[in-house]
Amino acid sequence: MDEPTNPKPKSNFIRDIVDEHLRTGRFSRVHTRFPPEPNGYLHIGHAKSICLNFGLARDYNGLCNLRMDDTNPETEDIEYVNSIKEDVRWLGFDWEDREYYASDYYEKLYEFAVQLIKQGDAYVCDLSVDQVREYRGTVTTPGKDSPFRNRSVTENLDLFSRMRAGEFPDGAKTLRAKIDMASPNMLLRDPLMYRIRREHHYRRGDAWCLYPTYDWAHGQSDSIEGVTHSICTLEFEVHRPLYDWFLDRLGVHHPQQIEFARLNLSHTVLSKRRLLELVEGGFVSGWDDPRMPTMTGFRRRGYTPESIRSFADIIGIARDNSIVDAALLEMCVREHLNRMAPRVMAVLRPLKVVITNFPEGRVEEFEAVNNPEDASAGTRKVPFSRELWIEREDFMEDPPKKFFRLSPGREVRLRYAYFIKCEEVVKDPKTGEVTELRCTYDPATRGGDSPPDGRKVKATLHWVSASHAIEAEVRLYETLFTVRDPMDVPEGTDWKSLLNPKSLEVVRGAKLEPGLADARPESRWQFERMGYYCVDRRDSKPGALVFNRTVTLRDEWAKLVSSGRENK
Ligand code: ATP
Ligand code: MG
Repeated sequence: MDEPTNPKPKSNFIRDIVDEHLRTGRFSRVHTRFPPEPNGYLHIGHAKSICLNFGLARDYNGLCNLRMDDTNPETEDIEYVNSIKEDVRWLGFDWEDREYYASDYYEKLYEFAVQLIKQGDAYVCDLSVDQVREYRGTVTTPGKDSPFRNRSVTENLDLFSRMRAGEFPDGAKTLRAKIDMASPNMLLRDPLMYRIRREHHYRRGDAWCLYPTYDWAHGQSDSIEGVTHSICTLEFEVHRPLYDWFLDRLGVHHPQQIEFARLNLSHTVLSKRRLLELVEGGFVSGWDDPRMPTMTGFRRRGYTPESIRSFADIIGIARDNSIVDAALLEMCVREHLNRMAPRVMAVLRPLKVVITNFPEGRVEEFEAVNNPEDASAGTRKVPFSRELWIEREDFMEDPPKKFFRLSPGREVRLRYAYFIKCEEVVKDPKTGEVTELRCTYDPATRGGDSPPDGRKVKATLHWVSASHAIEAEVRLYETLFTVRDPMDVPEGTDWKSLLNPKSLEVVRGAKLEPGLADARPESRWQFERMGYYCVDRRDSKPGALVFNRTVTLRDEWAKLVSSGRENK
């Protein structure tokens, strides 16, 4: 795979901050991390964060760690860890030997907690979850001190070690930071640091019955790793004072947290919880369903890592939340596939054409260009014979004015081959359905050139020789949701009711040119006039090929831009 390069990094406010830090000596190096929680597969929003974090490390000759923020035993799984690693690698980034786990820091975090207790900065609290909520107050009213807030250091140390030893039932006690129950920032009202939960952890097994909260683990994990810039999404801005408080009290290495806007993509949802709901509810075939906005879904669909990286580059980094139109991502995909995907001819919904004046048994071969965008892609031979398949939609018995393709008496060009003229339409006597077209070809148009008389045609069709064609299943996709923002639903409406019932259409019996017989899983092709397609990496087998439509050829993004709707 190509090393992701970025010759001229676009400046953004995060780079400005980093530059300033390097100038003032706040930091002399750049060390970032990508910290997913292994409770689901990565989605395109994570891709933005990966490109940002690994991109900064690359451009500043720094380092970027991969860290699993695995503090919640209930939802985490090794399956997710493995998928995360595979996806980051697929996207083209390398964490080298810096694969870290917050769950490896449990001991260190425990020591930190003991330090805070000793300093009088944390205490063991016996209030129940509900009571804690009640004591916390509201945004407009201050909270109340817990009756356990003034326990002595000795008592706290004793209770805390017994919490770890498993002496108390789940939920009986918590460890809380002693900050300020009247703080206008609710997160500073003595936040929880530890809960007792007898849950099996996918990595630590049953070694712990005491689990750190995300808020307690996250900042310290960054500190332990020597991270300089803890980049996270905007919703963590209000957590920053808390993270700063922990680090200051501990007196340890203090990374700078910087927040940026989450990516939202139109016509889909980007939340692992919701994506999991789609998987578990059977609304999609799995995390790698090609309609999913997950990296593994996009990969299966045929998106390239290069196109996802260039999308991340184009959308840039900002501090205001917005929805990016999926058409922009598709444009990036199309733009890359246009350069790299070989062209082939494939007929999705075949209609038989018999060339009545072409001898039976004769086969001619025509030279076809593999990629007009890339001369080095060369040419290939495609066979032509008396019976062919054309696209059913390329014929109309009774065409409206603007339809220039095949119709009775009309002449068109078959790409690379000949002009043909439709002489007769054969129908099923029972249903009236057109079953075959009987056409003649003009030998003077060999290679698809205009004949000496200068006659012109208004349409060029793709085709496949019937006796040479191979069959495939082709899966056509539309957006997963019918609306731009599935989260913007009226009260009481289930967002899943907005799923697009037409998001998947399976077409069986598509006819492909014979060269595609050995198409490898994940190879990407342009089916001329029909779009970009990718061999399904999961379901396709030699002899039973399955293709996914990656994107159509229509540039919806250009339309949105010209209509001024892209920012809506
Ligand atoms: P989700 O809501 O999808 O579960 P999350 O933020 O809980 O997302 P994490 O596994 O905690 O998921 O995220 C890992 C990293 O990816 C974090 O640094 C987070 O800020 C970033 N990230 C997650 N979602 C997005 C997004 N939509 N856009 C940009 N960055 C994101
Ligand atoms: Mg999270």
